[in-house]
Amino acid sequence: MEISENIKKYKSELPPNVKLCAISKTKPNEDILEAYRAGQRIFGENKIQEMTDKQEELPDDIEWHMVGHVQRNKVKYMAPFVSLIHAVDSLKLLKEINKRAKQNERTINCLLQIKIAEEDSKFGISAEDAKEILDSEAYSKMNNVKIIGLMGMATFTDDEDMVNSEFSNLKNIFDDFKKDYPDLTELSMGMSGDYKIAVKCGSTMVRIGSSIFGARNYN
Ligand SMILES: *Cc1c(COP(=O)(O)O)cnc(C)c1O
Repeated sequence: MEISENIKKYKSELPPNVKLCAISKTKPNEDILEAYRAGQRIFGENKIQEMTDKQEELPDDIEWHMVGHVQRNKVKYMAPFVSLIHAVDSLKLLKEINKRAKQNERTINCLLQIKIAEEDSKFGISAEDAKEILDSEAYSKMNNVKIIGLMGMATFTDDEDMVNSEFSNLKNIFDDFKKDYPDLTELSMGMSGDYKIAVKCGSTMVRIGSSIFGARNYN
């Protein structure tokens, strides 16, 4: 299927409260433009350099999301334009984002990445560590970052029960946090292979790459 048809398919299929973040990593600008012409405005990348290069060339009304692991020394390159950072996993990183956002006279929205999968390869922090960040005096003094939700990645497996229980676990953490932090509105979970389960479990934002743009070629 064409990229534009895929975008239309997801837009009609996803419930209205679930945002679609089209993951365009490794894909050329012409592919992004095809999705853009079909009405897509939120794009996600996992490398800061690649996202910055694309942002310079592509329309200004694209909302750029950083979904990958963030190195602190590279935050400055995306601080002028990034609209949501999905994978914040430390207070130190949050401090750097706050500093760079301030230099750019902006507020940058962030999600805390919670580790819900068993795989060691997945990044993220525990619910306890996330709560510690939200409760910290340091965060309360940051005027240029705003934590607006949580993000998580399920184990890469065909075992749907396992994926379901990991996403349900994250949804429970999210609901629990929301009682104390009403600013938390976004729950980023679900990719090409598991977004249907994620949506059933209460995702508000799915991150879909290969089923929109085709398989990635890393060469
Ligand atoms: C690449 C990536 C995705 C999209 O993965 P697909 O399986 O291609 O949909 C989603 N989230 C993150 C964090 C990613 O790095």
